[in-house]
Amino acid sequence: MLFERQIFLVAGLSRSGIAAAEYLVGKGAQVYLYDDVDDENVRATQTKLTKIGCIPIAKNELDEKSERCDVLVLSPGIPVDHPLPVSFRRAGKRIIGEAELGALALACPCIAVTGTNGKTTTVTMLEGIFKAANKKAIACGNVGRPLTSCLGELGSDGVAIAEISSFQLETLYSLRPHVAVVLNVTEDHLNRHYTLENYIYLKSRILKNSAESEFAVLNYDDATVRGFAEKTKAKVVWFSLRERVAGGYLSDGYFCYQGERVCAETDLAVDGNHNRMNALAAICAAKLFGIPNGAISAALKNFRGVKHRLQNVGVLNGVTFIDDSKATNVDSAVQAIGSVKGESVLLLGGKDKGYSYEPLFDAVKGSGVVHAVIYGENAFRILNAALKRGFTAVTLCRPFEMAVRVAYLTARKGQNVLLSPASASFDAFKSYEERGDKFVEMLGVLRSECERRAPELSEIAEAEEIGAADEVE
Ligand code: ADP
Repeated sequence: MLFERQIFLVAGLSRSGIAAAEYLVGKGAQVYLYDDVDDENVRATQTKLTKIGCIPIAKNELDEKSERCDVLVLSPGIPVDHPLPVSFRRAGKRIIGEAELGALALACPCIAVTGTNGKTTTVTMLEGIFKAANKKAIACGNVGRPLTSCLGELGSDGVAIAEISSFQLETLYSLRPHVAVVLNVTEDHLNRHYTLENYIYLKSRILKNSAESEFAVLNYDDATVRGFAEKTKAKVVWFSLRERVAGGYLSDGYFCYQGERVCAETDLAVDGNHNRMNALAAICAAKLFGIPNGAISAALKNFRGVKHRLQNVGVLNGVTFIDDSKATNVDSAVQAIGSVKGESVLLLGGKDKGYSYEPLFDAVKGSGVVHAVIYGENAFRILNAALKRGFTAVTLCRPFEMAVRVAYLTARKGQNVLLSPASASFDAFKSYEERGDKFVEMLGVLRSECERRAPELSEIAEAEEIGAADEVE
């Protein structure tokens, strides 16, 4: 792409939009900026980017000015059927994402990780593994640091460990990872991608540029992902919790890879089968890069999970609060229900994404969930699913703060209050992080109320900063 001679419109001024604009300006391109939202944050970003030469476009001048632009750099947050990309597509102009800019310029090998759930956990684990082996590697992409902002640091001798979401895959064409990892594909984001088939197709695009010299690390236990093996030219390396596959598997208490014991299962400091899956995927990718077993073992021992993912955030009067705010779809909440030890009052609800909640209540049956407190915009849809599946131990309660309070009052000593909402947060929060933080804040509020009422009865355990994996399976 000849940056100096083209005019770019960066649409969506969040983290990746800012990185794209800065990157393009650095390449000598002319950059226009646009965001549908006109709030303090966006205005501050515009001011900052104006200083390096970008030109903000107001809503009323969008049609006229966007006509001058050659390429649209679309934020993953903006759907490809938004009027702006539609007008670019009609005019036969290119629409790319920030990750595509990164992919075009990437000079080092890349591990790309996608899947419905477990991406952030797996790339974080992988970064730890590479660091333990003294290799230069950066977890980037959807995980937080945009790919374009890591290019300089990565150089040609680093390894980009890129988390790639389905939203990014819509506008990503050139990425050719040395190792592509697909963790799982279950129903999610149907409000954005419309059909499960389309969502599956988007996920499969992570493999579309792979040749025989590259590798696809695929989940053997997931029928959809297993099917990807037929469509890729890459060499397939499987991982499985159930079978001794050609790749990563568990045997006699060890994580194994291609017939070799890599490290003990007990080295993994976080519990839950989903985390064992993530570790197996990470081990396969690491072994394909020749990482020694000692580094893998050391990194898994040090891995403490990621914030808002089954994180034990404190105990109040014998009730343990677990923040799994990142469980923004049914399957991730099902994993949480299956992983958490003991009995739980489950907090559910948020913004609907178009899928059925009934499988959630199939998982609730026979699990440690004794009660569900349902809140949020989709509360009645969830309630309906609960009742259809015969689960009646439910309380409907809004808003979120009240729901947390009710969940705490419902839980008995020794039980958990588990926030694993199976829904996006955008009905009431800016992000799942904000929702998780509010949960922790409510724990603080409840704690000080208890202390005020009966300080001598308050058995307060301090919250740990990062998930206490030994208390949550
Ligand atoms: P992602 O980045 O794909 O959203 P995360 O690693 O942030 O995934 O985990 C999101 C949620 O999904 C967490 O709350 C966790 O409990 C659950 N989870 C993590 N790994 C898996 C997995 N392999 N399969 C299913 N659920 C998972």
